[in-house]
Amino acid sequence: MKAYVQTAIGRFEERDLPAPSAGPGEVVLRMRAALTCGTDVKILRRGHTKVSLPVTMGHEVCGEIVELGEGVSGWKIGERAAPGVSGPCGRCADCAAGRANLCSGTPAWMWGTFAERVRIPAGIVAANLHRVPEGVADEVAAFLDPLASVIHGWNRLGKPDPGPGTQLRGAQAPVRAARVVVG
Ligand SMILES: [Zn+2]
Ligand SMILES: [Zn+2]
Repeated sequence: MKAYVQTAIGRFEERDLPAPSAGPGEVVLRMRAALTCGTDVKILRRGHTKVSLPVTMGHEVCGEIVELGEGVSGWKIGERAAPGVSGPCGRCADCAAGRANLCSGTPAWMWGTFAERVRIPAGIVAANLHRVPEGVADEVAAFLDPLASVIHGWNRLGKPDPGPGTQLRGAQAPVRAARVVVG
Protein backbone atom coordinates (compact mmCIF):
# COMPACT_ATOMS: atom_id res chain seq x y z
CA MET A 1 0.00 0.00 0.00
CA LYS A 2 1.06 3.60 -0.47
CA ALA A 3 2.08 5.46 2.70
CA TYR A 4 3.72 8.75 3.64
CA VAL A 5 6.58 8.02 5.99
CA GLN A 6 8.60 10.49 8.05
CA THR A 7 12.17 9.22 7.79
CA ALA A 8 14.05 11.94 9.74
CA ILE A 9 13.48 15.40 11.21
CA GLY A 10 12.07 17.52 8.38
CA ARG A 11 12.00 14.66 5.84
CA PHE A 12 9.21 12.43 4.56
CA GLU A 13 8.63 10.33 1.45
CA GLU A 14 6.06 8.13 -0.23
CA ARG A 15 6.77 4.44 0.30
CA ASP A 16 5.23 1.15 -0.62
CA LEU A 17 4.59 -0.74 2.62
CA PRO A 18 2.95 -4.09 3.31
CA ALA A 19 -0.73 -3.63 4.18
CA PRO A 20 -1.37 -4.23 7.89
CA SER A 21 -3.47 -7.10 9.18
CA ALA A 22 -5.57 -7.19 12.34
CA GLY A 23 -4.22 -9.10 15.34
CA PRO A 24 -6.42 -10.19 18.27
CA GLY A 25 -8.69 -7.35 19.37
CA GLU A 26 -7.57 -5.10 16.51
CA VAL A 27 -9.26 -3.76 13.39
CA VAL A 28 -7.89 -2.47 10.09
CA LEU A 29 -9.39 0.67 8.59
CA ARG A 30 -9.31 1.68 4.95
CA MET A 31 -8.74 5.42 4.84
CA ARG A 32 -11.62 7.68 3.83
CA ALA A 33 -10.37 11.03 5.22
CA ALA A 34 -7.21 11.87 7.16
CA LEU A 35 -6.28 15.30 8.56
CA THR A 36 -3.01 17.05 9.24
CA CYS A 37 -2.80 17.99 12.93
CA GLY A 38 -0.42 20.48 14.55
CA THR A 39 1.15 17.47 16.27
CA ASP A 40 2.01 15.93 12.88
CA VAL A 41 3.76 19.16 11.94
CA LYS A 42 5.61 19.31 15.29
CA ILE A 43 6.78 15.69 14.90
CA LEU A 44 8.01 16.48 11.40
CA ARG A 45 9.88 19.60 12.58
CA ARG A 46 11.43 18.34 15.81
CA GLY A 47 10.41 14.73 16.52
CA HIS A 48 8.54 13.40 19.54
CA THR A 49 9.72 11.45 22.58
CA LYS A 50 6.97 8.84 22.07
CA VAL A 51 7.42 8.42 18.32
CA SER A 52 10.43 6.66 16.86
CA LEU A 53 11.37 7.13 13.22
CA PRO A 54 10.67 6.08 10.58
CA VAL A 55 6.94 6.48 11.21
CA THR A 56 3.94 6.55 8.90
CA MET A 57 2.45 9.96 9.53
CA GLY A 58 -1.04 11.07 10.56
CA HIS A 59 -3.46 10.18 13.37
CA GLU A 60 -6.79 11.98 12.77
CA VAL A 61 -8.98 9.88 10.56
CA CYS A 62 -12.30 8.54 9.42
CA GLY A 63 -12.00 5.06 7.94
CA GLU A 64 -14.00 2.04 6.95
CA ILE A 65 -13.48 -1.30 8.67
CA VAL A 66 -11.99 -3.83 6.26
CA GLU A 67 -10.72 -6.44 8.73
CA LEU A 68 -11.77 -7.54 12.22
CA GLY A 69 -9.25 -9.25 14.49
CA GLU A 70 -10.05 -12.29 16.59
CA GLY A 71 -12.33 -11.45 19.51
CA VAL A 72 -13.57 -8.09 18.20
CA SER A 73 -17.31 -7.80 18.72
CA GLY A 74 -19.83 -5.06 18.09
CA TRP A 75 -18.29 -4.03 14.75
CA LYS A 76 -18.97 -5.10 11.16
CA ILE A 77 -16.93 -4.98 7.97
CA GLY A 78 -17.83 -1.84 6.02
CA GLU A 79 -18.81 0.32 9.01
CA ARG A 80 -17.26 3.78 9.23
CA ALA A 81 -15.26 4.50 12.38
CA ALA A 82 -13.14 7.29 13.86
CA PRO A 83 -10.48 6.29 16.41
CA GLY A 84 -8.89 8.44 19.09
CA VAL A 85 -5.12 8.68 18.92
CA SER A 86 -4.71 6.67 22.13
CA GLY A 87 -6.48 4.04 24.19
CA PRO A 88 -6.07 4.40 27.97
CA CYS A 89 -5.04 1.34 30.02
CA GLY A 90 -8.09 1.68 32.32
CA ARG A 91 -6.11 0.46 35.36
CA CYS A 92 -3.65 3.18 36.44
CA ALA A 93 -4.29 5.91 39.04
CA ASP A 94 -4.91 8.53 36.35
CA CYS A 95 -7.48 6.35 34.55
CA ALA A 96 -9.17 5.57 37.89
CA ALA A 97 -9.40 9.30 38.65
CA GLY A 98 -11.10 10.06 35.33
CA ARG A 99 -7.97 11.47 33.67
CA ALA A 100 -7.68 8.80 30.98
CA ASN A 101 -6.13 11.38 28.64
CA LEU A 102 -3.13 11.48 31.02
CA CYS A 103 -2.94 7.67 31.41
CA SER A 104 0.34 6.83 33.14
CA GLY A 105 0.03 3.09 32.43
CA THR A 106 0.78 1.68 29.01
CA PRO A 107 -1.79 3.26 26.72
CA ALA A 108 -2.10 2.12 23.10
CA TRP A 109 -1.05 4.66 20.45
CA MET A 110 -2.06 4.87 16.83
CA TRP A 111 -0.03 6.54 14.08
CA GLY A 112 -0.07 5.98 10.38
CA THR A 113 -3.23 7.37 8.82
CA PHE A 114 -1.39 8.90 5.83
CA ALA A 115 -1.64 5.51 4.18
CA GLU A 116 -4.22 3.44 2.39
CA ARG A 117 -4.85 1.33 5.49
CA VAL A 118 -4.08 1.58 9.20
CA ARG A 119 -4.14 -1.00 12.00
CA ILE A 120 -5.99 0.15 15.11
CA PRO A 121 -4.48 -1.37 18.30
CA ALA A 122 -6.69 -3.39 20.63
CA GLY A 123 -6.52 -0.76 23.41
CA ILE A 124 -8.07 1.83 21.10
CA VAL A 125 -10.65 -0.57 19.65
CA ALA A 126 -11.75 -1.39 23.22
CA ALA A 127 -11.91 2.14 24.62
CA ASN A 128 -11.69 4.80 21.94
CA LEU A 129 -13.11 3.72 18.57
CA HIS A 130 -16.29 5.52 17.56
CA ARG A 131 -18.98 4.62 15.04
CA VAL A 132 -19.67 7.42 12.55
CA PRO A 133 -23.41 8.14 12.26
CA GLU A 134 -25.04 8.28 8.85
CA GLY A 135 -25.18 11.84 7.55
CA VAL A 136 -21.82 12.85 9.05
CA ALA A 137 -19.30 13.36 6.25
CA ASP A 138 -15.94 11.58 6.37
CA GLU A 139 -14.07 14.89 6.58
CA VAL A 140 -16.19 16.01 9.54
CA ALA A 141 -15.88 12.69 11.39
CA ALA A 142 -12.09 12.89 11.09
CA PHE A 143 -12.22 15.98 13.34
CA LEU A 144 -13.38 13.84 16.27
CA ASP A 145 -10.07 13.85 18.14
CA PRO A 146 -9.35 17.63 18.03
CA LEU A 147 -13.02 18.44 18.65
CA ALA A 148 -12.96 16.24 21.77
CA SER A 149 -10.03 18.34 23.05
CA VAL A 150 -12.04 21.52 22.58
CA ILE A 151 -15.14 20.15 24.30
CA HIS A 152 -13.06 18.79 27.19
CA GLY A 153 -11.40 22.20 27.62
CA TRP A 154 -14.73 23.98 27.37
CA ASN A 155 -16.27 21.75 30.04
CA ARG A 156 -13.34 22.41 32.37
CA LEU A 157 -13.97 26.14 32.15
CA GLY A 158 -17.12 25.67 34.22
CA LYS A 159 -19.75 28.09 32.98
CA PRO A 160 -18.07 30.50 30.61
CA ASP A 161 -20.00 33.48 29.31
CA PRO A 162 -21.13 32.24 25.88
CA GLY A 163 -21.28 35.79 24.51
CA PRO A 164 -19.66 36.73 21.22
CA GLY A 165 -16.47 37.87 22.96
CA THR A 166 -15.75 34.43 24.50
CA GLN A 167 -12.47 32.90 23.37
CA LEU A 168 -10.78 29.61 24.00
CA ARG A 169 -7.06 30.27 24.24
CA GLY A 170 -4.16 27.90 24.00
CA ALA A 171 -5.87 25.43 21.69
CA GLN A 172 -5.81 27.16 18.34
CA ALA A 173 -5.81 24.14 16.08
CA PRO A 174 -8.73 22.40 17.83
CA VAL A 175 -10.72 25.64 17.87
CA ARG A 176 -10.30 25.97 14.12
CA ALA A 177 -11.41 22.36 13.81
CA ALA A 178 -14.49 23.02 15.95
CA ARG A 179 -15.43 25.95 13.78
CA VAL A 180 -15.46 23.74 10.70
CA VAL A 181 -17.60 21.10 12.39
CA VAL A 182 -20.08 23.45 14.03
CA GLY A 183 -20.23 26.05 11.28
ZN1 LIG B 1 -4.10 15.56 16.50
ZN1 LIG C 1 -4.18 4.36 32.49
